[in-house]
Amino acid sequence: MKNNNKFLSCASLTILWFFSALSFASNQVQSIRIWPSPDNTRVVLDLSAAPQYKSFSLDNPDRLVIDLSNIAGDKALPKIAGDSQLIKAIRSSGDNTSMRIVLDLTSKVKPTVFALTPTAPYGHRLVIDLPDQQRTESRPPPSIRAARDIIIAIDAGHGGEDPGSIGPSGIYEKNLTLPIANRLAALINKEPGMRAVMVRTGDYFIHVNRRTEVARGQQADLLVSIHADAFTSPQPKGASVWVLSLRRATTEVGRMLEQTERHSELLGGVAEIIRDSANERYLAQTVLDLSMNHSMVTAYQAANQVLAELGKITSLHQAKPQAASLGVLKSPDIPSILVEVGFISNPKEEQQLKSANHQTRLAQSLHQALKRHFQLAPPADSLFAQQRAREHKVQAGESLSLLAQRYDVSVDALRSHNQLASDSIRIGQVLRIP
Ligand SMILES: [Zn+2]
Repeated sequence: MKNNNKFLSCASLTILWFFSALSFASNQVQSIRIWPSPDNTRVVLDLSAAPQYKSFSLDNPDRLVIDLSNIAGDKALPKIAGDSQLIKAIRSSGDNTSMRIVLDLTSKVKPTVFALTPTAPYGHRLVIDLPDQQRTESRPPPSIRAARDIIIAIDAGHGGEDPGSIGPSGIYEKNLTLPIANRLAALINKEPGMRAVMVRTGDYFIHVNRRTEVARGQQADLLVSIHADAFTSPQPKGASVWVLSLRRATTEVGRMLEQTERHSELLGGVAEIIRDSANERYLAQTVLDLSMNHSMVTAYQAANQVLAELGKITSLHQAKPQAASLGVLKSPDIPSILVEVGFISNPKEEQQLKSANHQTRLAQSLHQALKRHFQLAPPADSLFAQQRAREHKVQAGESLSLLAQRYDVSVDALRSHNQLASDSIRIGQVLRIP
């Protein structure tokens, strides 16, 4: 197989070279795609070869002109997909070997124009980024921007034609997870600086992938999926908390990276920085590794807080967070935990889980745990971060490196900020967090 591949890549390189040499003099604009977003419009020209281009802006009226050279054949505009409020019209003209494309704009913008080499499924591209000036300028600078809410996506497990596990008295898991999720959402929404988003609000089916999409769409800081456990015998009991397994995460990231069009979805705003296609995959991998690492640390820490709280009101099936490759946990970019609140197959726990009292206590425990987690490690732009005293009183079992990780600062920064001569800290010592 290896030999065969080698031959293939040699052959295809030769063919590629042949075609690029040939197409040097005969480039063609094949299609135009317009991708509007809340603060940027991206126009992509798909070309048959690497573009030779010049661009400049004109005003009164505002226009962007793209001059392409070595263009063969028809100079008419190809098919245009999408539209944007920023673009009034796109026109073209040309002579034998060149083509001029004019974008009539509704306002003055500072465009960025750059070429991209082929990455499947796309070929050669010329990208025009038009930032929405008004939107960008009306946005207050970070220092005076209101501190944001921490968003918790709450996923009530199962639903619709998927009942989940069924208890000995006939109760469905889907009908236990929803009231617990609703109770948790109510508590979170009462908490200043936190906001809950329900993934499922009624008794209907949602695909596992869609659940993480909802969380991602809401820019959730954490996804909490609520389930009840089941076993073939009635004895097993207690709660457990699951986090994404590293091995599964690594494969998922790899798979998503293969789909270039999903990079921006995975990377959020960071994708805008990654424009150099030669480095695109490498950079995407690096940035994703960082965000995945953050997700997994966050999920693990949150899971520990949840176990600590649940342990006060119910027995624990597993005292430590468990790693799994369960569907709802497979999103590497959103910290996700799955809480099994108890065993529905255990007749005693089934009765407990059915009671409104116990459901409320479970919701209160989860709320306390999540609040505590985000008090310890709030996202930088959140209200929690603003309110957090930048001090920490050392408790038993804590080390400098553990605190550095928890507060998302470097050990060096922590050491120098507190003028520590060594890494040893003592219980009760108050550290200032940089
Ligand atoms: Zn379940």
